[in-house]
Amino acid sequence: MSKAYDVVVVGGGNAAFCAALAACDQGASVLMLERAPEAESGGNSRFTAGAIRFAYDGLEHLREVVTDLSNEEIATTDFGTYTEDQFFDDMFRVTQYRTDPDLCETLVKGSRDAWKWLRAKGMRFTPIYGRQAFKVDGKFKFWGGLTVETWGGGPGLVDSATEIAKRAGIEIRYGARAVGLVHDDSGVKGVRVKSGAAISEVPARAVVLACGGFEANPEWRTRYLGPGWELAKVRGTRFNSGDGIKMALDIGAASYGNWSGCHAVGWDRNAPEFGDLDVGDQFQKHSYPFGILVNARGERFVDEGADFRNYTYAKYGRAILEQPAQFAWQIFDQKVIHLLRGEYRIKQVTKASANTLEELAGKLEGVDPQAFLATVKAYNAAVQQGVPFNPNVKDGRGTTGITPPKTNWANTLDAPPYEAYGVTCGITFTFGGLRIAKNGQVVDTDFVPIPGLYAAGELVGGLFWFNYPGGTGLTSGAVFGRLAGTSAGEAVRG
Ligand SMILES: Cc1cc2nc3c(=O)[nH]c(=O)nc-3n(C[C@H](O)[C@H](O)[C@H](O)COP(=O)(O)OP(=O)(O)OC[C@H]3O[C@@H](n4cnc5c(N)ncnc54)[C@H](O)[C@@H]3O)c2cc1C
Repeated sequence: MSKAYDVVVVGGGNAAFCAALAACDQGASVLMLERAPEAESGGNSRFTAGAIRFAYDGLEHLREVVTDLSNEEIATTDFGTYTEDQFFDDMFRVTQYRTDPDLCETLVKGSRDAWKWLRAKGMRFTPIYGRQAFKVDGKFKFWGGLTVETWGGGPGLVDSATEIAKRAGIEIRYGARAVGLVHDDSGVKGVRVKSGAAISEVPARAVVLACGGFEANPEWRTRYLGPGWELAKVRGTRFNSGDGIKMALDIGAASYGNWSGCHAVGWDRNAPEFGDLDVGDQFQKHSYPFGILVNARGERFVDEGADFRNYTYAKYGRAILEQPAQFAWQIFDQKVIHLLRGEYRIKQVTKASANTLEELAGKLEGVDPQAFLATVKAYNAAVQQGVPFNPNVKDGRGTTGITPPKTNWANTLDAPPYEAYGVTCGITFTFGGLRIAKNGQVVDTDFVPIPGLYAAGELVGGLFWFNYPGGTGLTSGAVFGRLAGTSAGEAVRG
């Protein structure tokens, strides 16, 4: 039996760090259990670009988080606003009004404050110039409600959180996999932990589960997301296999949310089974709003310009998985190549280029070439040439008379050389999970809070359904991690 702690936090990603820091703020002794070895620690949080969504009414609010904006940055940038109402609207729209109202309110209203709290602890933030703003008439303009990233991206976030946690006296055990909860009639009393071959018990007065969803578990993916999902590539960590959800369900916790739903994107067709920390999120290919997507039949199958990529990318992975042989090609011409994100220029890329469409058709592995040429011809004829192209706004430059339509940013494909990028489905995280009360406590199947058990991050269900606004995963981890840690700390110390 190990030493006893006030609070044991299961997980080593953003939600876990926020829970641990908040519990520590309440005066609790805290142990974090991270299943991964130190070199692979940090969960999906480490794989991110660190993009964070939070509500701000203007520059003054933004500067509460990005405290070191330079005068030059301020002079050359239109940061706009992203109000709480806009955040609510985005959550309601993309989840088709299924987001849990209490969870959503906690998320939106706590979003800026959570990042301010981390800034005060020493984490640093910067505007996402590279991906979320285009320069028009000498001025950068941010679009899509996503303006800030953590310094150093996901690795920077995890390294900084680790340093802050260690400084605060929080212990972290790496290679320590929680395999069960110790509990009796009066609630949760600790965790069973497997380190190497040995299993031991860590007594605790409260446990916070923050150990991710089940995206890295092909059997659960197929069971809950549906047939075919075992074929998806995993974008991030191999350690999120649903352990936290299983441990809680085993002691009578309630499940909640969109168990057949997940966040999944267009991801390099030849990417490895799990994420590669040297490549990070760069296997993603997110500039599809400026081109077209075709499947093996040479046909388009989504509206590439339905919205800013922040509001479509998380559901288009599923659309790709549903195509024959689970792949697609993204096609661009020279008019838009300069707008492609940095991820298109990595060396591990599945790419074809050609000087004519006919030559390109022959290079798109697995695609019916004649059908592809017919698709491009029909698409080119459908583009509304009279509407000006503007990547910073939903420009309404769409197509007419084709299915599916392209609603914005439609340009003819006629400026060689052409470039094509092969993608498949990359799963990011799952939406179904545990049901929590307003204070972050896990509830049982009668919706009664389980004494001593809290949850945060990916394994909380009810927030995201069908789709997701980019940059909300880290904010969810920060807001609900902080909430769960505060509640656990208060319960054991107060
Ligand atoms: C490639 C990629 C890019 C992304 N980009 C962004 C972005 O820019 N912005 C954004 O908001 N979101 C992004 N996301 C989503 C984001 O990563 C997640 O929403 C968020 O990191 C989840 O945080 P978490 O702490 O809940 O889970 P994680 O960060 O995944 O942490 C889970 C932790 O639990 C540990 N664990 C698992 N099982 C056990 C166990 N049994 N015992 C002990 N520990 C265990 C894992 O090792 C891991 O440390 C991205 C995800 C990926 C994969």
